Amino acid sequence: MYRVPDDIVERISSRVESMEDEIVSFLRDIVRIPTENPPGRYYRECAEAIGNKMREFGYEVRYFDVPAERLGELAPHGEGLPRVSVIGRLEGRNKKPVLHFTGHYDVVPAGGNWTVHPFEGAVKDGKIFGRGSSDQKSGIAAQIFAIEALRREGIPLLGTVESGATPDEETGGQAGVGYLVEKGIISKENTDFCVITECLDYDKVCIGHRGTLWFEVKTKGRKSHGSMPALGINAIEKMVAVMNAFDTRIKPKIRQVKTKYPVMPPQARQSSLTATVINAGTKVNTVPDECTAQFDWRLVPEQSVSSSYEELVSCLEHIRKVDPEFNYELRKIMEVDPTLVPTDTEVVRAFLEAGEAVLGRRPEFSLSPGSDDQKYVVKNAGLDQCIVYGPGPLALAHQTDEYVEIKDLVASTKVMAVATVALLGVDMQ
Ligand SMILES: [Zn+2]
Repeated sequence: MYRVPDDIVERISSRVESMEDEIVSFLRDIVRIPTENPPGRYYRECAEAIGNKMREFGYEVRYFDVPAERLGELAPHGEGLPRVSVIGRLEGRNKKPVLHFTGHYDVVPAGGNWTVHPFEGAVKDGKIFGRGSSDQKSGIAAQIFAIEALRREGIPLLGTVESGATPDEETGGQAGVGYLVEKGIISKENTDFCVITECLDYDKVCIGHRGTLWFEVKTKGRKSHGSMPALGINAIEKMVAVMNAFDTRIKPKIRQVKTKYPVMPPQARQSSLTATVINAGTKVNTVPDECTAQFDWRLVPEQSVSSSYEELVSCLEHIRKVDPEFNYELRKIMEVDPTLVPTDTEVVRAFLEAGEAVLGRRPEFSLSPGSDDQKYVVKNAGLDQCIVYGPGPLALAHQTDEYVEIKDLVASTKVMAVATVALLGVDMQ
């Protein structure tokens, strides 16, 4: 790893500062493209706006479309709309190593009750507002302008930068980074370092995320008239038994597992099992024969999907043993094991040191409470040197009146630029 001299840090800092208006204006341009997912609208428009900017900055730009025949499988919620990723490549003289930045350009639906228009990119009090302003079109703007600052400052890189923007992270990422990894476009062989530019706070280096087990329980009974409930089997009452069993048999156990890792926010440092959807019944005077409920179980790094699932099955089987009328089906909706990367790697050191040089204090480590595209790069592509770093406060993701502070956007752009120099080296010729 290359040690970045102080004068280069200074030059990068002032160059990025001089580009502030341009960075802000590009971010506002892409916030104005309402890439709400689901279902995933205006993807091509957004990918092209990002691709055009990279082309303007000298990248070789390629687009990767999920073929139509696989849309149903990889984007079942997507109403057949296109799923397109864009990657720009800027080669240095040595070609290697390769640093790949990637950010998702899809956003969660705006929802109601905004005090500003969610897709106007309003600027107020040093903040840019809008859905995606933080999560995470800000990261895409930062990754592109970090490299542009180096180019304009005349700091040529020895290695290669790739900069990608992908869809569908908000619905699992299978048609975005998942697809690029599956196709070998991001692989251990062609990529040395990867930085996912999610909004995990500009002064933290994120080294992983918690796991997720989403599942559905269906209890089955027998219909009867509401005036003669004894003739039926009430599926709602059976679901109450399920929830009580979770409360007494699973929750006390998982509450004891406090992770030793720096998950943010601290309230997310233990596992949680939460009922999120419930459906049953059709009429006030009919005993329902079916009740379905969905649950969101978040796992700390000390847990795994397989052992949690086993626990679930054993809990439901226990109910069946004591209640012969208990009849259920269990279905997984989504499973993601926790992801955690080693902290003694070059990519982690480069960002810690760049953070310290730019911000004047060493960034802390963090772990995301949710899950993100890092899982595909680390688990499916097998690339350990993959971190998450980007502007935008994690706490504001998916909220009403989402915003990013312009000063954080600028600071993270500087950190990315300095870390890139450290990882790829400068061509002195
Ligand atoms: Zn995100």
